[in-house]
Amino acid sequence: MTQLFDLSGKVALVTGANTGIGQGIALALGQAGADVAAAGRSPADETVGKLRALGRKGENFAADLSRVAAVQPLVDAVLAEFGRIDILVNNAGIIRRADAVDFTEEDWDAVMDTNLKTLFFLCQSVGRHMIARGSGKIINIASMLTFQGGIRVPSYTASKSGVGGLTKLLANEWAAKGINVNAIAPGYIATNNTAALQSDETRNRQIMERIPAGRWGDPADIGGAAVFLASRASDYVQGHILAVDGGWLAR
Ligand code: NAP
Repeated sequence: MTQLFDLSGKVALVTGANTGIGQGIALALGQAGADVAAAGRSPADETVGKLRALGRKGENFAADLSRVAAVQPLVDAVLAEFGRIDILVNNAGIIRRADAVDFTEEDWDAVMDTNLKTLFFLCQSVGRHMIARGSGKIINIASMLTFQGGIRVPSYTASKSGVGGLTKLLANEWAAKGINVNAIAPGYIATNNTAALQSDETRNRQIMERIPAGRWGDPADIGGAAVFLASRASDYVQGHILAVDGGWLAR
């Protein structure tokens, strides 16, 4: 059974692995046996240290993923260091909050560039490598706002809805090439991204009341889903958006 989920010898590239959900995923992949390339604008020293303590290879790769120009140098550097990429986790993302009537073009572009445009071109670059090898697992981080409208986050909702669509498109094009492209849609997870919601007493209460599990999620809650989608256990799962949300969408 454990062999189904075993990632020994696999190489994962995880973006935004220094904190939050990306860190939770990187550590779960490491616990399942994978070596991890941690890419982001802040060094993932804590994550890399914990991976090495597990006996895995962990390395930092500096990349500002607000710019597509960062993609190919990053992929080249990871391939030079690790020789291959078996698993890509597109986790890095940002959010900007303002009423739709006041929303600026800068807040639109910043979120769309990082959450959607760079994500696509990272899929493309790593996808070319995976297609050449005939196998690979791509996991995009979606959101409840891949399914719902949200409020005061127009570019975030647009970007995460786009992530859902791209995940399905790439699955359609690459499933027959041995690549699995899927997404995880986290519910409300306690990270920097949701700090503003957690500290807003009213919003925090409203959110908690709606979560059947009765608590915010923890980054570690996302790890098991990532291991599943990175492993042989999900070989026939394609274009799926797996909600890990304490039941939020079931409400
Ligand atoms: P977080 O703690 O704010 O982490 C975001 C990560 O993305 C950080 O590592 C951040 O690096 C990185 N990042 C942002 N902009 C970047 C850039 N230009 N270049 C490189 N890295 C960049 O938030 P999180 O909650 O863990 O979010 C991770 C993903 O989950 C995001 O895609 C988010 O939209 C998604 N998500 C979160 C929730 C939730 O409830 N928390 C729910 C659904 C989906 P820095 O540390 O340097 O900023």
